[in-house]
Amino acid sequence: MALALYRKYRPATFAEVVGQEHVTQPLRTALAAGRVNHAYLFSGPRGCGKTSSARILARSLNCVHGPTPDPCGECPSCIALAPEGPGSLDVVELDAASHGGVDDTRDLRDRAFYMPAESRYRVFIIDEAHMVTTQGFNALLKIVEEPPEHLVFIFATTEPDKVLTTIRSRTHHYPFRLIAPSVLRTMLERLCEQEGAVVEPAVLPLVIRAGGGSARDTLSMLDQLLAGAGPEGVTYRSAVALLGVTDAALLDEVVDALAAGDGGSVFAAVDRVIEAGHDPRRFATDLLQRLRDLVILSAVPDAGAKGLIDAPSDQLESMSAQADRLGAATATRMAEVLHTGLVDMRGTTSPRLVLELLCARMLLPATADGDGALLQRLERMERRMEIAADEPEPTARPVRQPTAVEIPLAEPAGPEPAAEPEQRTGTAERAAERTAAGRPAQGPNAQQRPAASRPAAPARPQRPEATPAGPDLGLPAPPTLRSTARAARPDASRPEQPRPDQARPDQARTTPPDSRRTPPDQARPAARAPEPDRNRPAAGSPAGGQPPGSDRVARPAPAAASSAPTRSAESAPAAHESSPTPASEIEVVDVRRNWPEVLAKVQQRRRTTQILLESATVVALENGVLRLTMPSAALARRVLEPANADLLRAGLKQVLGVDWRIQCDADGPAARPAAAERRPAAAADPWDGAPLPEPPADGPDEEIPDDYGDPAPPTSGSQAPRDPEAMALELLTTQLGARPLEP
Ligand SMILES: [Zn+2]
Repeated sequence: MALALYRKYRPATFAEVVGQEHVTQPLRTALAAGRVNHAYLFSGPRGCGKTSSARILARSLNCVHGPTPDPCGECPSCIALAPEGPGSLDVVELDAASHGGVDDTRDLRDRAFYMPAESRYRVFIIDEAHMVTTQGFNALLKIVEEPPEHLVFIFATTEPDKVLTTIRSRTHHYPFRLIAPSVLRTMLERLCEQEGAVVEPAVLPLVIRAGGGSARDTLSMLDQLLAGAGPEGVTYRSAVALLGVTDAALLDEVVDALAAGDGGSVFAAVDRVIEAGHDPRRFATDLLQRLRDLVILSAVPDAGAKGLIDAPSDQLESMSAQADRLGAATATRMAEVLHTGLVDMRGTTSPRLVLELLCARMLLPATADGDGALLQRLERMERRMEIAADEPEPTARPVRQPTAVEIPLAEPAGPEPAAEPEQRTGTAERAAERTAAGRPAQGPNAQQRPAASRPAAPARPQRPEATPAGPDLGLPAPPTLRSTARAARPDASRPEQPRPDQARPDQARTTPPDSRRTPPDQARPAARAPEPDRNRPAAGSPAGGQPPGSDRVARPAPAAASSAPTRSAESAPAAHESSPTPASEIEVVDVRRNWPEVLAKVQQRRRTTQILLESATVVALENGVLRLTMPSAALARRVLEPANADLLRAGLKQVLGVDWRIQCDADGPAARPAAAERRPAAAADPWDGAPLPEPPADGPDEEIPDDYGDPAPPTSGSQAPRDPEAMALELLTTQLGARPLEP
């Protein structure tokens, strides 16, 4: 019969005891100095080395060279007291669990007075000391109080509090602890090597987790896995099945679904857990453990390297992404919900029901009014601002210097109608200014100006403004690009939506060094080629023109183009135009998993689209239609405008090889009627204040599509912040005194 691992690898000296240095070190020092006490109390959780240490202590005391911290291992006493050795007459082990009665301790007491037969000390090891009865302890009390010189007591217990106080106070108490995962891991790796066992690296964390910090439990677990391993060794699959832990992939799926607020996938996963015969409590525990890891990860990004989280590196990576998606507050709240729920699950007759209710509660932050839910929503808002404020592409950083300026980029939805006329009127003055100084003055206009005058400056170019930017640079390509981009506008369903996109191509033109952007821009118009001719002449003329003059020349083009469009159906016709390719086996969870990659592809083409889509939630996938939701109706429409939708579809095609139609709705309550009235106070409520053309009582000014391109009072345009990010930013600056970080 094979010897169990935990017995085979039982430590024989204090140096071999792992993870208990805080105990073994002082003991070794005391032994080296010859300071031997007559009673010791070793306490701590099971399987962490108490009994082994007690035996080592006996061995160290009785070695011919002893008392010594390092028993020689060669003398008769050392051999007799070695692990699996025959034992010594002078070292008596009493298992109090079975022999804790008063008779046993009386017997022990009587034997204690005899001198040791062959060694220096008589050592009594009383295991499970908390099981000794009170009478039993009382019988021992006298001898522990005034022991003969040759006698040493070692009590080992998991519950030191149950050891009679009068006994305990006469002992030296050494508290053993659970062993750290990193220490256990080192031990397991060494042991697997010694055993010549093949174990997949991903198995070790499972074993360690199952062992709960106890060396004995961990080794027993590994022993069992090794015993059942085939020629290929211990695989992750077999370990998951045997240990009954939840597969990491399933946890990934659930966490992704939770982050996306997709109840369908969450409940489907729960169903699979139950169908597979797993214990719902176990699943909840594992999910809680995962959420714990995510909370740690959001607080300590390099938690893996620091050993706070024990997981394979690839899983660490995916967990970092999950932590980002979920956010610390969300993860914490969900963990709290789960933790409370686990207590409820304990006695329930239907753990599945409780588990499903827990999932429902985790999915519904908006219904809770606690701090956690509030934080979660705040976190979501902050994340959006972060996305807008900080650039994920390090290469672009130097070019896009004015970070603060960049933020308003997303703002165009709002001031659109007014912005154009304003720019138009300001042209002459601007041109003069440009020639004079050519540097930013004040206000938003000032930022646009430099963009045109200084091509390299990535400031914030705006649509009409940027038109001359191309000529400024003397780049041949830009005009074509712009003309096509402009031509695209008329066929856009919503005239006001093209705005943000337009800023994009313009920017690409104004920042020629950023080569990454230019090609995609070229590609994009090509896809939308239909009516480029219409504006080409107009756009073409400024192409070769000089900076200041061409500015004015170009103006008519946008005006003509922008006045052309009329309001049409809002339901993103462009997005639907191509026939859907039924996605074969790709499910919504796959989309969600690959969403970051899709966004990365989109980002290569155009950053605003990517920023916009960061707010999107992948809700469903049916018959080749990918359904998204956005926080507001206005944002949803923006997603659907051809430029954005096409990019998204292209991204999906690149990453997943699918050609889906995109559908996008607003989620949550859309604050439509309030939009206009709230506008002045928009800063107070960024989401509700999002631009919505619906309100009937708003006056012409609110009908964005109609007045789009028409001159409107400049003040209203520049004054009404309508983009959530911009409003959130304003809120932060005005209410909290926040200031954008200077690059
Ligand atoms: Zn020895």
